[in-house]
Amino acid sequence: TRIAVLRERAAGETRVSATPETVKKFIALGASVVVESGAGLSASVSDDEYRAAGAEIVADGAAHGADIVFGVQGPAPELLTGAKPGAWVVAGLDPFAKRARVDAYAAAGVEALAMEFMPRITRAQSMDILSSQSNLAGYKAVLVAANLYGRAFPMMMTAAGTVSAAKAFVMGVGVAGLQAIATARRLGAQVSATDVRSATKEQIQSLGAKPIFVESVKGIEGEGAGGYATEMSEEYQKAQAELVSSHIAKQDIVITTALIPGRPAPRLISDAQIASMKPGSVIFDLAVAQGGNVEGSVPDQVVEKHGVKIVGYSNTPAHLPADASALFSRNLYNFLSAFWDKEQGKPVLDEEIGNAIRLTQGGKVVNERLLG
Ligand code: NAD
Repeated sequence: TRIAVLRERAAGETRVSATPETVKKFIALGASVVVESGAGLSASVSDDEYRAAGAEIVADGAAHGADIVFGVQGPAPELLTGAKPGAWVVAGLDPFAKRARVDAYAAAGVEALAMEFMPRITRAQSMDILSSQSNLAGYKAVLVAANLYGRAFPMMMTAAGTVSAAKAFVMGVGVAGLQAIATARRLGAQVSATDVRSATKEQIQSLGAKPIFVESVKGIEGEGAGGYATEMSEEYQKAQAELVSSHIAKQDIVITTALIPGRPAPRLISDAQIASMKPGSVIFDLAVAQGGNVEGSVPDQVVEKHGVKIVGYSNTPAHLPADASALFSRNLYNFLSAFWDKEQGKPVLDEEIGNAIRLTQGGKVVNERLLG
């Protein structure tokens, strides 16, 4: 099996889909690995390190003759020229937003496997790029907010007087939100958090933060489909807006992370609510690339409104390229190695995971979530 590691072409993408560590492991499985020159540079990995791990370096066109093509983001179809018929394209394919590209993969005769469709089952946890990348994003969001904040996070008692602790509020307590809570706590902020899933209340408390929950209207009980949220009723949204209005005015830092798979991000903070905050407060909108949780947030810009700084990156994990690449690459290795068939010398997927992540096969789009 020949694995191709492409250099990412998308603007702002600093990550790479294999590291010298995973290259070595794939070679130990019996695969050969070809890496495009410079693929790891922005993640602090040189061509020489890939070579030392056993990879072949090519200038371009790594997909030629490949059985499996790796990307962080989905490669443009023309980068797949020369790949074996039915070759796998394994990457974060953003299938809902990049639907036309999925059709192009089908037309190119490749089998596109969307890593973000990995089911949320215990045995696939180590293969889950959404979790590994969201975790780092939640951490980075707090650091960026802390950096833009003109005050300190921890309470400090100094000879010149006391500095009071920052109040941080995390909205959406999935993987990113939990890490944001933990990071803000480590920096010394007083942290509160909210979600629509009632299961998160205990998780918030266990991290030493205060849960802020709508109690008048029922939220989502239990974990639902794979633990994801769905769109809430109008009644719930109204109750949530009221609750947020009274709470947010007292906050210095707000980190929003709320996402609903396949839908635009829910709007959680309005301009009027921003106006109620103290000047100098900072909001980081982790959902900015999915439409934003915060009114007026713009990808990759610091917008100032009513004296409040609003920030959000279109690709937050790319701001921690080395760790994000290391975890992403391990996700790909954990995935393929779990299905490696020694006799055939290649990975063979089972139905549960295969059907969940396979977007195209035999020239057609085959994934239920895209056809439904
Ligand atoms: P996500 O990125 O899809 O969404 C982030 C959070 O926003 C979620 O907690 C969601 O409930 C919340 N949210 C959505 N709409 C909201 C609203 N209107 N107001 C407030 N909050 C809102 O979520 P995620 O980080 O992918 O995690 C979702 C769940 O999946 C978690 O329980 C997580 O522990 C679980 N999970 C399980 C596995 C596994 O078993 N393999 C892997 C990863 C995550």
